[in-house]
Amino acid sequence: MNIVLLGAPGAGKGTQASMLCEMLNIPHISTGDIFRRHIKELTPIGKIAKSYIDRGELVPDSVTEEIVRLRLAEADCKNGYLLDGFPRTVAQAKALEGFSKVDVVIEIDVPHEKLMHRIIGRRVCGKCAESYHVDFIGEKRVCEKCGGDLIHRDDDKEDTVKERLFVYANKTAPLIDFYAERGILKKVNGDLAAKDVLSEISKALK
Ligand SMILES: [Zn+2]
Repeated sequence: MNIVLLGAPGAGKGTQASMLCEMLNIPHISTGDIFRRHIKELTPIGKIAKSYIDRGELVPDSVTEEIVRLRLAEADCKNGYLLDGFPRTVAQAKALEGFSKVDVVIEIDVPHEKLMHRIIGRRVCGKCAESYHVDFIGEKRVCEKCGGDLIHRDDDKEDTVKERLFVYANKTAPLIDFYAERGILKKVNGDLAAKDVLSEISKALK
């Protein structure tokens, strides 16, 4: 099954993606990861992407699409994949239709206030990047895993979070409509414990 996973920052997309891929035995295609790999290995397309980044310019859609197309053509995607981080726009969704057939689009839905609470309360270990929430650790600011200091990243502060969520909602709304019109959008309640969200997703896939 070819799956596209959508969810706002803080919706728990990363957690669901890894659990879902393990359950279905399909690869997790994170566009961020494949981008970094092409750039690191200086593949032909990676060099092109890097030339834009080095000039401080946005990587054009055509380059991003080619990177995704190449990845989805690899053998491990034959029996399905979970795509995360692409498409982000209707134009990209249309391009994706040109080289792969998406069976279902899962949107992990979490109310705005809950997303704000989840992200603003996040504290991240400066050493090992393990993530915690103040609801669970109280005043403690030391990492359980490595003893590093827990920090409140600028990205996780209220004004930035509001902006990030606003940008996400604006950009994604047309994409959600696009897939709803095609009858393949499944909205899943993400305001539950991670394992319950997973079972909601499993139900939606049947
Ligand atoms: Zn740590």
